Amino acid sequence: MRSWCPIVPATLQSQMDENIHVLGDATQNGDMPKSAYSANSQAKAAAMAIRHALTSSRAFKPRFSNTCWSLISTDNGVKVGASYVATDEKIAKVDGFISQNNEDDALRKQTYEESLLVRRDYHGYVWVTGTNELRGALEGAPRDF
Ligand SMILES: Cc1cc2nc3c(=O)[nH]c(=O)nc-3n(C[C@H](O)[C@H](O)[C@H](O)COP(=O)(O)OP(=O)(O)OC[C@H]3O[C@@H](n4cnc5c(N)ncnc54)[C@H](O)[C@@H]3O)c2cc1C
Repeated sequence: MRSWCPIVPATLQSQMDENIHVLGDATQNGDMPKSAYSANSQAKAAAMAIRHALTSSRAFKPRFSNTCWSLISTDNGVKVGASYVATDEKIAKVDGFISQNNEDDALRKQTYEESLLVRRDYHGYVWVTGTNELRGALEGAPRDF
């Protein structure tokens, strides 16, 4: 029977083979949705676990996050997201947020602009940035558009 890959939540190691790390849509992770934002968040935890395995560097208890934006019209965006922690059983949702019906135009415009914000990291990759990264990106990180 086909199914998603069960993982060790804190390290993203496969439960079938500790030398394989699995992230993103392929995982059976618990509460995190299958999104590019989730995959990116999980990749950071997997990279930390792999570095720890190879070099005995410090490994921190990972925190995960996800945000998905939807465009309603120009200057009108909504979003849904949450933060997560690794428990022994799964990646578990801690708290979440979702746009509300009664939001004013200014907030919807702000949400729309968040969804457009991209930056290039030091490897040259372009990332869509989330609410938590908005301030840092605006304070000097190079942006291409
Ligand atoms: C229409 C649509 C809209 C979306 N919008 C958003 C959004 O706004 N925000 C968001 O965060 N997420 C969004 N997502 C979800 C997001 O695209 C996925 O969650 C994300 O791409 C998962 O990344 P991944 O690396 O786990 O898998 P993938 O991106 O699917 O990468 C897996 C790769 O493995 C390759 N592959 C498969 N089998 C093999 C094999 N046997 N050998 C070698 N290579 C193989 C595939 O070709 C693929 O390139 C959207 C998805 C869809 C379909």
